[in-house]
Amino acid sequence: MFIDIQNVSKNYRQGDGLIQALKPISFHAEKNETLAIVGPSGSGKTTLLSLLAGLDTPTEGSIAIDSEIISTLSQKDLGLFRSRKMGIVFQQFHLMPHLTAFENVSLPLEIIGEKYTADKINAVLDIVGLSKRSGHLPSQLSGGEQQRVAIARAIVHNPPLLLADEPSGNLDLETGKRVMDLIFSLVEKQKLTLLLVTHDLHLADRCQRKILLKGDQ
Ligand code: ADP
Ligand code: MG
Repeated sequence: MFIDIQNVSKNYRQGDGLIQALKPISFHAEKNETLAIVGPSGSGKTTLLSLLAGLDTPTEGSIAIDSEIISTLSQKDLGLFRSRKMGIVFQQFHLMPHLTAFENVSLPLEIIGEKYTADKINAVLDIVGLSKRSGHLPSQLSGGEQQRVAIARAIVHNPPLLLADEPSGNLDLETGKRVMDLIFSLVEKQKLTLLLVTHDLHLADRCQRKILLKGDQ
């Protein structure tokens, strides 16, 4: 089993009360499976993804990725584990504003200390159709182009797992579709496991399975 989520929940303290951000959930995913995480706004989709990325810790339950129980890793090991195993694409792109497209895409390799050539980065930019934009800053790119840089950055180090949180949520319909086509074609080519957070049921239908998070109603 590549991902194994057992009874994972997340509460946030707020004043005297607790906010149940994610109700207990269990599921698993195999290598090269595509899962859509669906549910109404506020049902904990983003919370679940940040727990999977190890950016936050669950209140209860355990998360294993590639047989590693991530809550047992030290902060440093967790950072390395995340950098090696995961690519993450967010709704808001989250590119480094002062770095060019080329530099943004190189960043994961810098972080894990992997040697690379300019040809390698340019080849990945070419895959997402941006080889002519490598010297541009994010502010000089359209939303769709920025998201394609973010996708290139997410896959440049060949991670087995791609986490995507509403990756087309900030794009117009046509651009969003092109970005999603790109994600699905990369998932297919590189045999990635995809966890895709979306509230778009048509998009969810493109995944092999759906995980439904329940809202308050
Ligand atoms: P979704 O992505 O499905 O819309 P979220 O995971 O963003 O939902 O949030 C789930 C619930 O948890 C919401 O009610 C949200 O306000 C709350 N929440 C999320 N993060 C925090 C936080 N850091 N502190 C307090 N409440 C939070
Ligand atoms: Mg969300």
